[in-house]
Amino acid sequence: MDQTADRPPSNLFYQSRARRPLLDRAEGVYLWDVDGNRYLDGSSGAMVSNIGHSNPRVLAAMRDQMDKATFGYRLHFENAPAETLARRVAGLMPDGLDRVFFVSGGSEAVESGLKFARQWAVATGQESRWKVISRYPSYHGSTLGALAVTGMALMTAPFSPMLREMPRIPAPTCYLDRDPLSMDERGLRYAEMLRQEILRQGPETVLGFIMEPVGGASTGALVAPDSYYARIREICDEFGILLIYDEVMSGAGRTGKFLAAEHWGIRPDIVVVSKGFAAGYAPLGAMIAGRALVEPVLDHGGFIHGYTYAGNPLACAAGLAVLDEILERDLMGNAARIGDHLKAELTGLMARYPFIGDVRGKGLLLAFELVSDRETMAPLPVGDNAYIRLVEHAYERGLIIYSRRTRGGREGDHFLVCPPMIATEDHVDEIMDKLTASLDALSDELGLPKGN
Ligand code: PMP
Repeated sequence: MDQTADRPPSNLFYQSRARRPLLDRAEGVYLWDVDGNRYLDGSSGAMVSNIGHSNPRVLAAMRDQMDKATFGYRLHFENAPAETLARRVAGLMPDGLDRVFFVSGGSEAVESGLKFARQWAVATGQESRWKVISRYPSYHGSTLGALAVTGMALMTAPFSPMLREMPRIPAPTCYLDRDPLSMDERGLRYAEMLRQEILRQGPETVLGFIMEPVGGASTGALVAPDSYYARIREICDEFGILLIYDEVMSGAGRTGKFLAAEHWGIRPDIVVVSKGFAAGYAPLGAMIAGRALVEPVLDHGGFIHGYTYAGNPLACAAGLAVLDEILERDLMGNAARIGDHLKAELTGLMARYPFIGDVRGKGLLLAFELVSDRETMAPLPVGDNAYIRLVEHAYERGLIIYSRRTRGGREGDHFLVCPPMIATEDHVDEIMDKLTASLDALSDELGLPKGN
């Protein structure tokens, strides 16, 4: 039977996805379908549209660039938008992260970071180092290298024979732990797991450790205790291991600072950004490292890696205009302020809905998690499909949120509430009204308890 007969050819590869409305236009925090229905973009797509839709300045910058040149191959030409953007980004980075390698998305950025790290090891006579330790759960992208360090069984399982198995340690899900330790003590306990894993693997074989400083799709805006970040940096230094921050989702200002790393004063060795970097206006990402790592690679013939579309003038012109908007309108300040407000509102929902077990995140990278018992943090039954049902209830009410159920290791339905960084208090009110109605509908549907 043809399961896809009534579906558009562009979506035929997704067996389970319900047919979605046809997008007509988008502006600010809203999108409209061709029937005139309006949707509040409460997840900025997949945490991408950070400065909102149809930003006039970005569109004008792209039009200007289109009139000049949309493509010049990077081995034939430098281009001004790429040069300027690289300089501007380097200026925003923690000390010494001054070399920017452009790509067209998050997976490409992670892939580039992994391969660059390996080439650095080879160039510096450390041939035995190749293992990149990651966390479980985690998401680092869909290409085979990025998948090899991704900790989500659902996404990796069919491909496991094609992947080079990499070691993983548990992500610091301290909020689930029931022990007498303080949060900072728990953070140190999770960091120690990295040290133990390095020793188990043999430090001379370990190349890097990759982590999302604020979690995204995998852990739902997971923030570790402060102690974790500094200790992880120390452990990497102790063994000469490269610390790779995957800021594809947390970067470009969403947490209230350009890099989430800045909240803890951490300088990673390699950092990757995408998503909000060009905020949905063009495919763009970057892998950023310091010259101390880049020079040895250059001395050994240069980075043997690159993508045809990388650093193209149109994408970089979009990225540059997005950066101007973020900085000149203080959208990071707004993300911090509105994020605090939205987080407080979401936390307030816990009084009415005992099945909300946790609210977490930083700036406008926020999430809540549903549980069947707040004391034990036991998840809702898998068969409830809460992560799908609540999103559908919200969708019917014109609110888009983003959800996942993490399976294996630990389980839970979590929901990312991440509107664009231009969101106002009125938008937060609208999100909360629609979300409350959606939670009521979910509680009625699944028979979950609720207060007044
Ligand atoms: N890393 C992280 C942390 C991500 O959230 C994502 C996308 N969800 C990726 C990498 C992969 O990015 P892309 O889908 O642009 O390839």
